Amino acid sequence: EKEAALAAASTPSDSPTIFDKIINKEIPANVVYEDEKVLAFRDINPQAPVHILIIPKVRDGLTRLAKAEERHFDILGRLLYTAKVIAKQEGLEEGFRIVINDGPKGCQSVYHIHVHLLGDVKWSGLLA
Ligand code: ADP
Repeated sequence: EKEAALAAASTPSDSPTIFDKIINKEIPANVVYEDEKVLAFRDINPQAPVHILIIPKVRDGLTRLAKAEERHFDILGRLLYTAKVIAKQEGLEEGFRIVINDGPKGCQSVYHIHVHLLGDVKWSGLLA
């Protein structure tokens, strides 16, 4: 049962995700930035001393980067720009790491596109 739930959670899907509940404030999140288009909050299972997720408030089909279309150019740019703003807010003057996981073979588990912002990263490989 647990394995089925895990498999379901990591299957690409257009269904609402846990991030909708965070956007709608149905479940709490440690929000570090918010504007009309974008929300950013601390990852519940941090892989680095600073680990923040940056998401669009409206998914608009962007379950994953592989679904990106021309209409998403603005929001994709905003997600990266917001990462820079938050990095500064978090004092990451010496640098930071950006990760976007795509799909079952790209370690994606939540199908609402998100940018991982990682600071004070101790690892040097590609995976957390
Ligand atoms: P992965 O789980 O392999 O990192 P993703 O790139 O899809 O895959 O990342 C989803 C991220 O969402 C994970 O880092 C996970 O810890 C985080 N997460 C899941 N639920 C919550 C939550 N309720 N609040 C904050 N972060 C969450």
